Parts: sequence; structure tokens; C-alpha cells
Amino acid sequence: MTNKILFIANWKMFGDLESLKSIESVIKLTKKKTYTKAKVIYCPPFTLLSSFVNKTKKSKVNVGSQDCHFEKDNGPFTGSISSSMVKKIGAEYVIIGHSEKRIEGDSNEKINKKIHNAISNNLKVIFCIGENLYEKNNKKTNYVIKKQINSGLKKIKKIDKIIFAYEPVWSIGTGKVLNNNKLEKQILYIKKYLKKKFRKQNTQIIYGGSVNNKNIDNLKQIAGINGFLIGGASQNSKKFIDIIKKTII
Ligand code: PEP
Repeated sequence: MTNKILFIANWKMFGDLESLKSIESVIKLTKKKTYTKAKVIYCPPFTLLSSFVNKTKKSKVNVGSQDCHFEKDNGPFTGSISSSMVKKIGAEYVIIGHSEKRIEGDSNEKINKKIHNAISNNLKVIFCIGENLYEKNNKKTNYVIKKQINSGLKKIKKIDKIIFAYEPVWSIGTGKVLNNNKLEKQILYIKKYLKKKFRKQNTQIIYGGSVNNKNIDNLKQIAGINGFLIGGASQNSKKFIDIIKKTII
């Protein structure tokens, strides 16, 4: 648990060794005194995890994986990597339950197994929750979020290693964002629900969905947000730095 403002960069299926150089300016920024309030976590594709860990070694920037296998540490699971592999490579975080993985078949039950496995391997979990457009239009947002939390965190008692990322699916990559009033209400609803469910443990909630260097002035005003999960705009270091600067100053 940290009281810093989180800036989590989800590079999705983008990036190569050349793009690694672009994060140098971000690393430099986080070394400045003004920016000690910011915590940057890069989640590159699997192929770059090791390079990111090496590149950020002497800095305060952390690295996370975009996913992990749901059960085992090793085994005949072609195309998967396990949370123990992520940990051994030197990364400290893992995104679990991203809507782009849910669409590919990650059920709440599978996500629950992934979270148990990641925590047992000492990784911190960035747990994505959020409604899709159909659910939003049918006023099912709170029902869906509660189900994702209850099933995804089944038999999880402590949430100090979990960062909750509220990401409305219809907002990811679309440029569409809830207005501040509605978003603040939604964040507070989730916070309140978690407080009740987890008996007043501290919670960390970040927002994700089309965050960019233009809407950040607005989004940073929302009460109760501990940071942002940023996809598209995080792959451009200039824009990413702009987001960090505008939030902190
Ligand atoms: C994401 O991938 O989690 C995300 C929020 O993407 P974008 O910022 O591009 O909407």
C-alpha cells in the first residue's frame, strides 16, 4: 500500500527494444524531488519484461506483467507465463482481469485463481473491474462490479496487495470518459463497498479509460482516486510525462 499517486502504463501488445529508450525521460523525471509523490509502474508485453526490469533497476520505476497463468507455477501451458516466472524475472506487479483478457475468456473464476496465485508468489495485483456498454445502458454497473469483486476476490481476506482499477470497458481506447460527477460517484461507491466487505481495510483505487494529457486536468480533480491506469497515452513518453506533471503540480 502506498500513498503515492500511481501512474500505471499498460503498453498492451505494443513496443520493442527500440521503444525501451523512450522510458529514459520518465525515469529521469521520477528522480526529481517534485515527483517523489508519483509512482510509475510499466506493464510492457512479456517479451520486454526482462529489459524493462534491467532498465529501471537503479530507479524508483517498477515493472509489472500484463497477465499471468491462472493456476500453476510451471506446466504444459503453451503461450502462458506464470506469476512465479514474473516474480523471478524481477517484476513486482501483475495486471489481472483486464477487459481485453476477459473478452478472450478470463471468467471471474479464472481471475480469482490468477489473483490467489499471484499473491502467493508475492506479486502485487492490479485488479481491473468495470462494466461494458450493454451493462451500463441497462443500469447494471453496480451489479457487475460487485460480482467481479465478489467472485474475483473469493477467499481473499487481505487487500493490501491489491490495487483496484476501475475501467469502464466502453471507455477503454474510445476517448469517452464519464463526467466528473458520475465518475466520482462510481469511485466512491466502489470504495464504500470495499470498505464494508473488507472491514475497513485501506483501499487503493485507480481509474483507467482514455486518460490523456488533455483530460487529466479534469480527471485529477476527482476525489478518492489514487492514480491512473493508462493505455494508449502511456506509450508516448512525452504524453505520459505530461500526464504525470499535470497531476502532480
Ligand atoms: C487500458 O488499457 O487499461 C486503458 C485504460 O487503455 P486506454 O488508456 O488506451 O483507454
